[in-house]
Amino acid sequence: MIKTGNRLVADFCERLRHIFASSSLLVAGSGALIAIVMVGLCGLVLYQSRQDALNHTRDTLRDIALVAERDIERNFELYELSLQAVVDGLKDPEVMALPPRLRRELLFDRAASAKYLGSMLVLDASGNIILDSGSDVPRRANFADRKYFTIHRDNPGVGLYVSDPYESRLRGGAPSIALTRRVSNPDGSFAGIVLLSVNLEYFHTLFEGLALGPHGSLSLIGKDGVMLMRQPYDPRIVGRDISNASTFRRFIAEPEGSFEDTASIDGIRRLYWYRNFPAAPLIIMVAAAEEDVYAAWRRRALTIGTLMIVFGSAFIGLASLLGIQLRQRMRAESELRLLARTDGLTGLNNRRSLGEILDMEWRRAKRMRSVMSLLFVDIDQFKSYNDIYGHQAGDDALATVARCITDSIRRPADTAARYGGEEFIVVLPDTPATGASVIAEKIRAAICECAIKHEGSEHGRVTASIGAASCEPSSDDDVAAVIRAADEALYNAKATGRNKVSLDGV
Ligand code: GH3
Ligand code: MG
Ligand code: MG
Repeated sequence: MIKTGNRLVADFCERLRHIFASSSLLVAGSGALIAIVMVGLCGLVLYQSRQDALNHTRDTLRDIALVAERDIERNFELYELSLQAVVDGLKDPEVMALPPRLRRELLFDRAASAKYLGSMLVLDASGNIILDSGSDVPRRANFADRKYFTIHRDNPGVGLYVSDPYESRLRGGAPSIALTRRVSNPDGSFAGIVLLSVNLEYFHTLFEGLALGPHGSLSLIGKDGVMLMRQPYDPRIVGRDISNASTFRRFIAEPEGSFEDTASIDGIRRLYWYRNFPAAPLIIMVAAAEEDVYAAWRRRALTIGTLMIVFGSAFIGLASLLGIQLRQRMRAESELRLLARTDGLTGLNNRRSLGEILDMEWRRAKRMRSVMSLLFVDIDQFKSYNDIYGHQAGDDALATVARCITDSIRRPADTAARYGGEEFIVVLPDTPATGASVIAEKIRAAICECAIKHEGSEHGRVTASIGAASCEPSSDDDVAAVIRAADEALYNAKATGRNKVSLDGV
């Protein structure tokens, strides 16, 4: 739009454009940064809540293990007391001399009739039943082949023994374990064993009531590595020897602890909590499937994560939109600013802008002690041109003359402005009178050479008169004085024939 002479405005607008571009980028960038920080924080919170879920499950598993252990241990303590009472009774000749029914009632107290208990038996050194809690006449059976029998027979110091699971021969194959104690003769030789069988049903019922989640598991393992019971119950697993499994070695290493592992039995990854019974040769192991541990967390993470992504994207989108809007608005503002400084008809600086340029160049010339020149250009007999060719043609001629002026000033520092009507001012910083008169002549010639037909002019074409004034600014004078001098020079040009350049020094 403006080829030269608009340096100040152009600089100003360029600066504004830079500020706007960086402001809109800042808005979009900050929006993205805030969204990233929000997503990051959300991720951190989710990670922490995942850890919380793990810790909470570990605590729950420990509590469950403790509850089960206490229940089992309390019952086993009672069973052991019952066994010990039988061992002691067997040594008492008075008890042994009682009639069978009384002797049975005395030896096998009411604990032997507790729920989940099978029979309480005394076996002789050959493994035959000699005393039976279930009958005055002992049932006929031999258990010399059972491990719980041979272990006491071969090792006097075993104490309370908890057997591997077996199918009871007296109770139709019901899965059971036996708690046994050795009975010794006064000389210490093997006299048989006292046996109390416990239905695995007991553990079933106990374990069933404990909340372990859909894929949790609970196992009771003998310290020799034999699986006594497992929930969910699987007859193929109960009785299995796992003493060689790596997990079992962990159970033995510490009194209690926790770890994560994939079960070889069902391939499910679980969080385990195990605990060695302090007073019984048992280990309890409680496990929750990872799938169950994180189920609630996963649902929450999915919801929060989805919302976060949606809101984060929306936030970034809005911030970008805001950035774009800001840029557009600022661009529009800068264009408006530019328009406010420009003359609409000629595209030159308007009078307001000229005032600022003059002030600036005047101060600069003062500072630099340089000569500043002004050209006052006035179209000759323009009134009559309007009268002859009409106002619209006058406007076109004005625009053409403005172009002639801007085409004639090549230096970036030179500025042309429309002063008003058919008058223009050209500011020539750092230009002495000789240079100014050359440029003035150039402008005059350029306008003349445009050959805009003007029958009302003695030259037959549109011409302009130019008054030039030069000045090295000092504190005594101001820029208005230079304009006045240029105007006077112009008057002189008009008075002496028009279509000419007239110089005036200040
Ligand atoms: P001189 O040679 O002495 O300068 O005579 P002149 O007719 O040019 O001077 P005068 O000041 O009497 O007339 C200026 C004329 O310029 C008046 C007006 O018709 C015309 N003019 C001023 N502004 C505009 C404009 O924006 N458009 C048009 N078409 N004409 C304008
Ligand atoms: Mg005039
Ligand atoms: Mg005129």
